Amino acid sequence: MSRTFTLKENLGLQFAQWENTTIISADISKQQREVLLANFKAAIRIPSVSFSQTHQNTSALREFDQLLRRVFPNVFSSSLVKHEVVGNYSHLFTVLGTDPELVPYMLLAHIDVVPANEVDGWEAPPFSAKELNGFIYGRGTIDNKQCVMGILQAVEYLLERGYVPRRGFYIGLGHDEEVYGYNGAVNIAKVLKSGGVKLQYILDEGLAVMDGIITGLNGPAALIGVSEKGQATVKLSASTRLGHSSMPPKENSIGILAAAITRLEESPMPRLFGYGPEQSTFEHLAHKFQFPLRFMMSNLWLFNPLLSRVMERRPDMNAFVRTTTAVTMFNSGVKVNVLPSHAEAFVNLRIHPAQTLQEVLDLIKSTISDNRVKLELVDGFDSLPISSYDEQSFGYQIIKKTLLDMFPQVTVAPSICIGNTDSRHYMDLTQDIYRFNPTWLSQIRSERNAGIHGINERMSVQNYEEIVLFYFQLIQESDIRILPPSHTGQHEL
Ligand SMILES: [Zn+2]
Repeated sequence: MSRTFTLKENLGLQFAQWENTTIISADISKQQREVLLANFKAAIRIPSVSFSQTHQNTSALREFDQLLRRVFPNVFSSSLVKHEVVGNYSHLFTVLGTDPELVPYMLLAHIDVVPANEVDGWEAPPFSAKELNGFIYGRGTIDNKQCVMGILQAVEYLLERGYVPRRGFYIGLGHDEEVYGYNGAVNIAKVLKSGGVKLQYILDEGLAVMDGIITGLNGPAALIGVSEKGQATVKLSASTRLGHSSMPPKENSIGILAAAITRLEESPMPRLFGYGPEQSTFEHLAHKFQFPLRFMMSNLWLFNPLLSRVMERRPDMNAFVRTTTAVTMFNSGVKVNVLPSHAEAFVNLRIHPAQTLQEVLDLIKSTISDNRVKLELVDGFDSLPISSYDEQSFGYQIIKKTLLDMFPQVTVAPSICIGNTDSRHYMDLTQDIYRFNPTWLSQIRSERNAGIHGINERMSVQNYEEIVLFYFQLIQESDIRILPPSHTGQHEL
């Protein structure tokens, strides 16, 4: 019971004595506000869509390059900033710091978006940036042009006001994140690696502020992604002899493969809730849950089995409980009166951090347990290493302080990203990668199929201003030399 009442993880270093480096005020005039918003809308109106790895709207990407140069003149002319185009359409900015002893950090975002069709039920055309009830509608408003424009707008303001960073930093804007980042992020990381760059931390897109989304939680939660689930695409196939449908054998390739798929769907991967970073998520949030959830979240060691049974009923929560299995393609047959000689299916799995890719493959094999079904790994990787989030963790604490200074009402907790981001291509440059930006997801999630990659993707005018200010503050906060010593000197977890 005492755990239930003593875990107030949110405060941490917040009351410690921080060196004050946020000297430049973020006062934005009414006129600047209008410009800031116009810049964001202009970015949304450019349809920088990634259709596939080989098909991107490259003229939109060129147009986007022109937009950045036009609306951020200080960024592109300052002697403190070096700009490079990488992989034809991605951007790398190097901002020099005055103290070469301080290890630089990096901010990431991506320019490309997934396709969007107005006929799917958008209230405003997806590349219109139309403003409705205080929201700007459009593909990319929350994934991820709010960060592309937010970061550069913040740097533009800082430079305009005479800011000179003490700690250097990089900005990487990828152009093909939605199709794996092999041209953008991979090449930016290569440039940095060849220059021998090491990074203090990386902040990329990923998680957000969840307001009213987590059942039973009082108040909003800012979830900072400290890892990402792994992924695997597996091809299953079955082959039988070709023949005429008038003399069919007892089973053919379609039936064999369908039975295998059914077995996979009927036996989900094991429950692993509480064995990965999601354990910390709920422990950090525990004190904000209503009873009896608060008691259960504070004592996960006891309630894990019960909680995972409740969580797995909701697809979005099930993703935290286990490696998920999704059959995404099934192909077979050529003619109505010909027995198919071959059937194949593709299965996409998102791997829980407590399991390895190999373990997942072994489990699929034993679940199917039919030697006639061939299993091939198309591609895949383990879940990503867990970044630090204790009181010595520079990046995590800077992000947390910036957040709590702006939004004292949020509870900050480490968590895991279900999807993957560009940042996984930067793993050789730092151990500490955080996936977060202060986009408030609330109203958006209450509609089915809305938001990220869905219909009516939108960002409130106020929230976009907050995102600019967040980066404006974060860049200045990152100038501290070292973190302050812990205020309480005690750390429960
Ligand atoms: Zn994204």
